[in-house]
Amino acid sequence: MTPEEFRAAAHQHADWIAQFFQDIRDFPVAALTEPGELVAALPRTAPEEGQPINEIFADFQSTIVPSLTLWNHPRFFAYFSVSSTPPSVLAEFLAAAINVNAMLWKSSPGATELEQVTLSWLRQWLALDESWFGIIYDTASIGVMQAIGAAREWMDPECRTQGMRPGLTVYVSEHTHSSAEKAAITLGFGQENVRRIAVDDQFRMRPEKLQEAIEGDLTAGKRPCCIVASVGSTSAGAIEPIPAIADIADRYGIWLHVDAAYGGPAAVVPEMRYIFEGVERAHSMVLNPHKWLYVSIDCSVLYTRYPDIFRRASSLASEVLRTPEDGGVVNYMDYGVQLGRRFRALKLWYVFRYYGHQGIIAMLREALRLAQVLKQLVERDADFELAAPVELSLVCFRHRGENALNQRLLAEINASGKAFLSHTVLNGKFVLRFAIGNYQTTEQDVCETWGLISETAQRLKASEPVLAAGG
Ligand code: PLP
Repeated sequence: MTPEEFRAAAHQHADWIAQFFQDIRDFPVAALTEPGELVAALPRTAPEEGQPINEIFADFQSTIVPSLTLWNHPRFFAYFSVSSTPPSVLAEFLAAAINVNAMLWKSSPGATELEQVTLSWLRQWLALDESWFGIIYDTASIGVMQAIGAAREWMDPECRTQGMRPGLTVYVSEHTHSSAEKAAITLGFGQENVRRIAVDDQFRMRPEKLQEAIEGDLTAGKRPCCIVASVGSTSAGAIEPIPAIADIADRYGIWLHVDAAYGGPAAVVPEMRYIFEGVERAHSMVLNPHKWLYVSIDCSVLYTRYPDIFRRASSLASEVLRTPEDGGVVNYMDYGVQLGRRFRALKLWYVFRYYGHQGIIAMLREALRLAQVLKQLVERDADFELAAPVELSLVCFRHRGENALNQRLLAEINASGKAFLSHTVLNGKFVLRFAIGNYQTTEQDVCETWGLISETAQRLKASEPVLAAGG
């Protein structure tokens, strides 16, 4: 592609993106396609000869986009609502053009140093002190795996050379994200050495049950290694009692990892800082800018007070990767399994600078406010009930009828293309999850979606009175 062709195509693509941001509400949120539809629509083999970019771009619009569920849609309320904001998109565009690899300081000094700078800015917004070292991973799932790997290195340093000894145990709650257990499986702890601690009526880990489990394991000759506690759990947005859990971690000398993948960004808002109480005592903590900090997927940040342990657990440099600066600079490849690393700090820098600290606080605050608006709508409707406290931007609720009615309700909302929600099960009941966090979501989006939910429920109630009666 010549520079002139590239310039013309880039303008065309930029125009499409700008229009997409503007008209996004005209697109169905969820893909209204059947399994296999896209595969059937595309050629079975790649083209032998190159094709014009205009043709590819036209097919992107006509064939690919309709097959996508649009996570950047302001009425995408499923899982966790995310935002790829315009400054983040611009940074991704530049990062792809520059295509640097942030594996070593030497491999692209500015990429490493921008990571240090942006993570220091974010650390200050979170009121964590300077002893916290930050690193960007792709996802929180990798972050928790690295953290549990560091905990193992801490507890069992011979593991690196001798392999893992049996009996190391990991503690999660019944509601901890599955990535923690998956990490324990991947690292060779064994699923039977993961304890799922019971939660209280607000879906938070019960410290006394944690202590009981640890005592039981010690009696059985096991070696308690790592606790994973959540600030903003996936199912219910629960904020676990970190100070009490940190007391237990201290008492027994166990690594404490805080999963704030979703909830962490809220701690940037001054009146929400309380959710981080006790986090300063953790050994590591992860939060995802790609969830609720207006940065496109992927970008997850891990902070730790023990970077040397992460390095001990993960560093291994072949001759090719040695540089004269080793020892005097940060080589991020030393803190994880990944060698090649995308230049993710650029999008953090763009987003943090474009919106500024106050702009980010205002956007987070608005999402928190909209969650309270929705909470009140649910409370005012006699047919519905809240299923969990609303402390962050996630509202869990259900129709008072049977689970089957709630399942039908969710399916109909999602099939409408007008909004997209997801579900969970709390206390055996099927619950709808409405997560707010996209930068374009307005009160009108929330209220109209609630209108759609309650009208659909009325219709289902009329056609299925037995299911609606429920209990
Ligand atoms: N932790 C929590 C609380 C989550 O909600 C999620 C995903 O939703 C994860 C971890 C995993 O995040 P990632 O997709 O970045 O691996």
